[in-house]
Amino acid sequence: AEKTGRRCVVFYPSPGMGHLVSMVEFAKRLLPYSFDLTVVTAEPPYNTGSTASYMRRVTETHPAITFHRLPPVSLPLDASSSTNNEAFTFRFIDLNRTLLHDALLDISRRNSICALVLDFFCFTSMESAARLGIPPYVYFTSSATCLASFFDFPTLHRNTAASLKDMTDTVLDVPGVPPLPASHMPTPVLDREDEAYWGFFRMSMEIPKCRGILVNTFEGLEPRALRAISEGACIPDGPTPRIFPIGPVIAADNRGGKWECLSWLDSQPDKSVVFLCFGSLGLFSAEQLKEIAIGVERSEQRFLWVVRSPPSPDDKTAGRLCAPPEPDLEALLPKGFLERTRNRGMVLKSWAPQAAVLSHGSVGGFVTHCGWNSILEAICAGVPMVAWPLYAEQKLNKVFLTKETKLAIPVTEEENGLVTAAEVERRVRELMESEEGKGLRERTAATRTAAVAAVSEGGSSLAVLTEFAESLKQLQIGLGR
Ligand code: UDP
Repeated sequence: AEKTGRRCVVFYPSPGMGHLVSMVEFAKRLLPYSFDLTVVTAEPPYNTGSTASYMRRVTETHPAITFHRLPPVSLPLDASSSTNNEAFTFRFIDLNRTLLHDALLDISRRNSICALVLDFFCFTSMESAARLGIPPYVYFTSSATCLASFFDFPTLHRNTAASLKDMTDTVLDVPGVPPLPASHMPTPVLDREDEAYWGFFRMSMEIPKCRGILVNTFEGLEPRALRAISEGACIPDGPTPRIFPIGPVIAADNRGGKWECLSWLDSQPDKSVVFLCFGSLGLFSAEQLKEIAIGVERSEQRFLWVVRSPPSPDDKTAGRLCAPPEPDLEALLPKGFLERTRNRGMVLKSWAPQAAVLSHGSVGGFVTHCGWNSILEAICAGVPMVAWPLYAEQKLNKVFLTKETKLAIPVTEEENGLVTAAEVERRVRELMESEEGKGLRERTAATRTAAVAAVSEGGSSLAVLTEFAESLKQLQIGLGR
């Protein structure tokens, strides 16, 4: 077949809404540079939220971006049930290696592929890229602080025989990262007995070998981590790949349809509403939901709260194989709660159009699970946060937000992991009406200004992005084919 002559960038996100959206939003940033842009997706046999309708919307609004869906793979039974999310994702990507390779071959018949941009979970496909003479890059969907911790992880591993989860009194000195309790490292690297530990270990060793890492952050937000990485402090015994801080990359608007909560926000005073939302996977026990309800009610603040059903005790996959059922609010929340708070609060079942909510002028505070996309969305809307980390690298992000940048205040949990109603009330009040809250708000507003500047004409992220795009145009490609 005839090649189009246009160079093509191929993107390979890992499954799940968060990683897909972030990767596609990054692809959109490359539209002005006249590449063909192809997103290859591996199709897992489980609930991935509304990825299909999301991809349809992207194709409608951005015809230059095409999707290439890999055919379904059959999963060995144990890969689908007994492992945690991260271990499952590594296995699943491994099962798709040949299919990805074939897809690259297929695409390269029509197009000259000048880069394969991978999610870090897909690191094993760097080998396919190498065999085909395609330069591999990584698009890192979390913070530079998190990237620094992954780079340091092999060194931590070598320096002790213990699992980080058992080093309860240890505070780690990770280059580029504020002093970090060992237990606050990303959850999958805490336990050597966890299959995912070894996936992350190999990933941390392999991704430095790629041609460059695009990170969803900006110079002004994480100068310390970016400097430590670029100066080679995180990988003492090998070369560090070029780091491209090109963010913040966030979804401009993910509402997709009409939402009653947005009209409700229209009728609320400026910056008066606290928004509580815990990522795409955050689930609380019934007991914890009641504590939140009582705390929010006693805080006397206006609120918009996304409530999900508690995890079912026999689903070890934490909602991966099927979405939790619609929550029964009357049963889950304290008696009379909805009635008593009707005039100043709204509870949403399962999902909110978060980016649109955060950028609404009536929202003045955000209680967040500290997912990196959520943090960037809050920063871009200038909304200060209460940090309530739940899983993945969120405790690390909490440390960054509360100690390094002071854009958030933390919640403190009890010994048993519960956050009491009193603590919820105290932190929400602090965020919304204290002097400290005011300080957070001012710093967040300044960070928002810096974020906007970074991606505007003359800004650091835009300059780095242009440099990346130009370098792809210069590359000699296809030599290994
Ligand atoms: N999100 C949303 N509505 C919800 C929950 C999440 O729109 O009710 C979006 C949110 O705006 C963000 C993404 O889902 O873009 C979550 O990504 P993040 O990195 O914060 O957390 P994760 O879900 O990956 O843990």
